[in-house]
Amino acid sequence: MPELLTIEEALGLVLEHTRLLREEEVVLDSAFGRVLRKPARAAVDLPPFPSSAMDGFAVRAAETPAELPIAFRVAAGATPPGPLPAGAAAGIATGGTVPAGADAVVPVEVVEDRGDYLFVRESAVVGQHIRPRGGDVGAGAVVVESGTMLGPVQIGALGASGVAAVTCSARPRVAILATGDELRNPGEKLEPGQIYESNRRMVAAALAGSGADVDVLPVAADDADSHRIAMERGLQADVLVTSGGVSMGPHDLVRRVAAELGVEEIFWGVAVKPGKPLAFGVRGETLVFGLPGNPVSTLVGALLFVRPALLARQGHARPRPDYLGGRLSTAIRRNPHRDEFVRARRVESSDGVLLEAVAGQESHMIVRAASADALVLVPSGEGEVAAGGGVRFLALD
Ligand code: AMP
Ligand code: MG
Repeated sequence: MPELLTIEEALGLVLEHTRLLREEEVVLDSAFGRVLRKPARAAVDLPPFPSSAMDGFAVRAAETPAELPIAFRVAAGATPPGPLPAGAAAGIATGGTVPAGADAVVPVEVVEDRGDYLFVRESAVVGQHIRPRGGDVGAGAVVVESGTMLGPVQIGALGASGVAAVTCSARPRVAILATGDELRNPGEKLEPGQIYESNRRMVAAALAGSGADVDVLPVAADDADSHRIAMERGLQADVLVTSGGVSMGPHDLVRRVAAELGVEEIFWGVAVKPGKPLAFGVRGETLVFGLPGNPVSTLVGALLFVRPALLARQGHARPRPDYLGGRLSTAIRRNPHRDEFVRARRVESSDGVLLEAVAGQESHMIVRAASADALVLVPSGEGEVAAGGGVRFLALD
């Protein structure tokens, strides 16, 4: 294996080779989870008119405290019949339009409503309980910036400011392929030497929420023809992810067949444990990730490189993995040559998040990994990271 790249170097190369997908118009009802490619601007001022923040009475602050006749009452959605007459109050519902002339709302809780008139016992302050027109956003101003993945808050903001459709990235199409003669589907009977195939579904799950449309391909047998047929099909997608067959064994055919199919290999080998023999290449604008087959290695590769690439293809402003901060509950020895992702459980403490490594850290031990909710990055080097030492981790949920 050639000189290994650091995780950062490898990710840098992936992002450098990642091309943007086309843009498309998306109606708001379909926009959740999509990445915005043009800033979305408010269609109206929000609120569109000065509105009441409380159920109460619109008044002139300077006229309070006072006994005031109730000139009219304004429901939400209604237009006041006219300006507020001098020396009067108007009943108003939350969200109702504050009539011209009024400059404060007195909440219903602090007045005495006698039907035709009311007593305001305290003086009101100008502007109180009035939401000014445009106080949240002005018409034409940016509601959501380009490069944002639209989550619930953004969807709410776009709807509130009258945006009916937005310009988003097309969704990347991802094909996921597993290789290996030994692989059977859960539910089938295992013959001697066989194991259950787990990586395709796991990668699909790891990429959920990345905005991609995932296509899970059949398992390819360990012969060049099967690989060729399956990989050529997968290369029609925007991103092809394979698992297995990228090490040095005689049946590790992925890189060879990829090269035959015109994939230019950009790198092979990352200084990370697990996940070292990861291969990355491109054919045209299609990205090809050859993830190693051991399930934990596959997962690490998907989270460290594939997910960021999918976000970058959509123009996401922050495509890199989101690391969180925590402390080790017990010391962990460093690997001298490779950064290591240790499976751990998060425990909330008064001192922040404590990370407890789970038993069973080998790269095939996916069931041991399933009791973890964090992948802790232990940087390569000499010695150990001491108990209590600060580390970064990726959330596994
Ligand atoms: P490979 O990279 O093909 O040499 O595979 C490494 C190890 O991972 C072997 O023990 C394989 O049986 C196992 N493996 C490969 N692909 C899968 C898969 N899709 N699901 C579960 N285990 C796999
Ligand atoms: Mg294999």
